[in-house]
Amino acid sequence: MTATNVNGLAVIASEPAPTNIVDKAGNRVYFQQIRALLLEDESIVYGCAHCDYTAASPMQVRPHLNAHRDRKRPATAADEPVKTAPAPLTVSQMLTQVAGDRDRWRERAEAAESALAEVRAIVAAKPTRRAANKGAS
Ligand SMILES: [Zn+2]
Repeated sequence: MTATNVNGLAVIASEPAPTNIVDKAGNRVYFQQIRALLLEDESIVYGCAHCDYTAASPMQVRPHLNAHRDRKRPATAADEPVKTAPAPLTVSQMLTQVAGDRDRWRERAEAAESALAEVRAIVAAKPTRRAANKGAS
């Protein structure tokens, strides 16, 4: 079990440790077997999800995870500690996200159309150099 006490300090919160990876949708990717532990002095250490091993960084916990792997069996994708966000989205959350994306893209498209219309109006109103020269001579 993950540590509940580190150097005499109680662990007051434990959650999946974030990686520095963001997926294509912009969501933070979390370690599956490494926990970020908030201690009572508000410092953060990283702990193994399987035992009370802790370290100052997730990268120091990663090699330790091999201790929990069955050595007779070759490593599989399930052993890989990096996996996407802890809770999968519900259908309604996905629909909300899709609707938000659609609205953002609609705003961008409308802004781009409006900018393009302004450019077209400027181009149409401004006499070309050739036309201006004709008028002068
Ligand atoms: Zn461990």
